[in-house]
Amino acid sequence: MTTTTMVEATTEPTTGKRRIVVAAELGYCWGVRRALDIVQAAASTDRKIAPIGDVIHNPQVVQRLRTQGVEGQPDFDSAVREGFKRVAITAHGWGPDMALRAAEKGVELIDSTCPLVTKVQRMAQKLARQGYFIVIYGDDYHPEVRSVLAWSGTSKAKAAKKLEQLGWNTNRGETGEGLIAPPRKVALLSQTTKNVDDLMAFARQLEALVIPEGGEFRFVNTICEPTSERQRALKRLIEDDHCDLILAIGGMKSSNTARLADVGNKAGVESHHIERREDISDEWLARGTIVGITAGASTPDDVIQDIVDYLVAKGYPAPENGIRPIDPDYVPSF
Ligand code: SF4
Repeated sequence: MTTTTMVEATTEPTTGKRRIVVAAELGYCWGVRRALDIVQAAASTDRKIAPIGDVIHNPQVVQRLRTQGVEGQPDFDSAVREGFKRVAITAHGWGPDMALRAAEKGVELIDSTCPLVTKVQRMAQKLARQGYFIVIYGDDYHPEVRSVLAWSGTSKAKAAKKLEQLGWNTNRGETGEGLIAPPRKVALLSQTTKNVDDLMAFARQLEALVIPEGGEFRFVNTICEPTSERQRALKRLIEDDHCDLILAIGGMKSSNTARLADVGNKAGVESHHIERREDISDEWLARGTIVGITAGASTPDDVIQDIVDYLVAKGYPAPENGIRPIDPDYVPSF
């Protein structure tokens, strides 16, 4: 479905050099498609469902779901207060307390946690039980990170993107006033949607802090395969297609869309995180001859198509192959 918003066509003739190049991997990831399938299959306007938080970080999709009886609530208690008898855990997951709370209140639980997030949750739990201090490379406010911290089941777990956030300021074995060294056993996992280059740099710094004096450092790269594929596809847009402007499409709360724009900017290409066509500035287009299109894991195809249509109306030739086809049999490696 394409929106019908009218665009003022550009008066500038197509030069023949201007191009739109669409990333080979973009938009809805496997986990988001799966979560939407689960929630939509359960949706009913008679027996409404309250997802705890947004099913996905895309306002257009959230609005559509509302018309099908899926009404997000900020937390479990609000859902109960509002009289919901069915709650859904989103693809980002939730702590182990949710199942207990639902059972206590007689509320049906619909779990659409992405299995790739479940893997990280259980890994954090296992490593915590083995005595590791758990570090999650990620944003402490993000629901997925909070769910992983909750599953670790210990106060010896923290989310960070910089070493300073961990409170350790010296290598193990070094002592002195004001110096705080890490514990002997530290395990590092990642939010599934982070930038792999940034994660690797953080891992090297943390390892250097922990390893001296018999420290143990476990590092598992838990960035999911769909996220890695999107980052690699974006790099190909830059290296092979020589894009000079990148538009990363996705809701403003979408962490992985923000990361895609970061990847583009760090590679030296002007890149913008946009949610809808109204966010595109004519000044960017005046500078952009080859426009690369990418989109976060929670961006539906019609929102991507709408941006492409907008650029075509502005004088760019339509991309030859449109948006990538969907492989219904694809399952990422766990
Ligand atoms: S981004 Fe990765 S972990 Fe998150 S829902 Fe998609 S596939 Fe699952």
